Amino acid sequence: MNFNQRRALLGQEFVKWYQAKPTAYAQAPGRVDLMGSHTDYNLGFVLTQAIDRNIWIAARPRDDGIMRVRSLDIDGCGEFDLKQIEYNRKLPWTNYVGGVAAILKEGGYNPIGFDGLVHSTVPIGSGLSSSAALEVSSAILFDTFGKLNLDWVEMAKICKRAENDFVGMNCGILDQYTSVMGEAGCILLLDCRTITHQAIPIASGLQVMICDTRAKRELTGSEYPERRAQCEEGVRILAGFYPEIRSLRDATLEQLQSRKSDLEPVVFKRCKFIIEENQRVLDISKALAAGNHAKVGDLALESFVGARDLYEIVSSEMIAMKDAIMDSPGAFGVRGAGAGFGGCMVAFVKDDEIDNFADSVQQKYSELTGIDPDIYPVQAAPGAGLLSFSIPHS
Ligand code: ADP
Ligand code: MG
Repeated sequence: MNFNQRRALLGQEFVKWYQAKPTAYAQAPGRVDLMGSHTDYNLGFVLTQAIDRNIWIAARPRDDGIMRVRSLDIDGCGEFDLKQIEYNRKLPWTNYVGGVAAILKEGGYNPIGFDGLVHSTVPIGSGLSSSAALEVSSAILFDTFGKLNLDWVEMAKICKRAENDFVGMNCGILDQYTSVMGEAGCILLLDCRTITHQAIPIASGLQVMICDTRAKRELTGSEYPERRAQCEEGVRILAGFYPEIRSLRDATLEQLQSRKSDLEPVVFKRCKFIIEENQRVLDISKALAAGNHAKVGDLALESFVGARDLYEIVSSEMIAMKDAIMDSPGAFGVRGAGAGFGGCMVAFVKDDEIDNFADSVQQKYSELTGIDPDIYPVQAAPGAGLLSFSIPHS
C-alpha cells in the first residue's frame, strides 16, 4: 500500500466508524536498536534508529471530554472519559492511548478528547516497538488538539510513563525516545542517563536488514522484570563496595570480576552482559562511522552470543535465523532486536547483496524451522509528527 492508498483507506474507514471526516493525521515510527539490548533501563547507551515503518492515527477532536479509539489492526472500540480515565480490561491495546492522556493529566496538562483510527505498518509485538509508536502518535494528537506545546523529550518521557504506570510494562526510554526524536538518514547514539543523543554518520556500503522470525513469543511476562531485578540486585551489591556505582552504566568489568564471589552466578552473568553490551554500543558507533564492516559484524555477533549465554533472551528460532543469515551472501553480522525472546533480528548486510541475501535467508530459515520469515531493508526515518496533508477541514 502506498502513501495515498493508506491515506484513502484511513479516511474512508474513519467516516464509516465515526460518520465524519478526520481533521488530522499523526504518524510515529517504530525503531530498531543496532546495539544495546536492555541497556536503557541500566541507564547506559543504545545505538538506535527510527524506521520507515510507522503507526498513523487519523483523528477528529471532540468537545465532550470523551476519547474513542479504534484500530484497523485489532478489533474493538475503546472509550475513555477524560475526567476519570480508567484502565480498559476488555481492550488492553487501547490503554496505550488512554495511558498517554492519563499521564498528561497527572502532569497538569489538559488533553482534549478525539475520535481516532489507528493503522500500523510496524509488525505488532515483534520487537520493533509498535507500542511506543502507538503512544507517541497519540501524544502528537493530544499535543495538537490541546495546544499543549510539549517539549519533544518531555513527550517521550510521558509516553514511557504511560507504558510503565498505566499499561504496566516497566520498559526504559529507548522506544519512545527513538519514535519521537528519529532523524531521516541518521542513527542515534542515545545516552539513557542524560536522555540526549548524538547523531552518528554511517559510511556507505552497508544496509540494515530486519529479519523477522515470525515465531510466537512464548513468554510468561516475568522474564523482563526478572532481568531488571537481577541488574538492580547487582548494582545494590556492587555499590556496597564501590559507592560511585548507581547503575550498571557506572560499573567496569574489572569491578564486576573482583566481586564475582559476592554475586549469585545468574546476577553476575546478567551484569557482565550489560557492561559489555554498553561498551559494544560505543565501539560499533565508531566502526559504523569508519566503515569498518568486519568489526561491525564481529560486534553484532558478540552481542548475539552474550544475549544467548549471559542474558538468556535468545529463542531457538533466533538461533536458526542467525545460522541462516550467516550462511547467506553479504552478511557481516546479526543480533536480536528489542527485548529478545523471538521477534525480529537485525542483520548488517553488504548493500549490493540485499536481494540475494533476502532470498537465501528466506529459504534457509524456512528449511530449518518450517516458518516463513519476513526479510526486508529499513531506512533511518524521521521522528513523529503530523502528516503534512492534515490541514484541518470540516
Ligand atoms: P512491540 O512494541 O515490540 O511491537 P509490545 O508487546 O510492546 O510489542 O506492544 C504490542 C502491543 O501494542 C499490542 O499487543 C497492542 O496492545 C499494541 N498495539 C501495537 N500496534 C497496534 C495497532 N496497530 N493497533 C492496536 N494496538 C496496537
Ligand atoms: Mg513495545
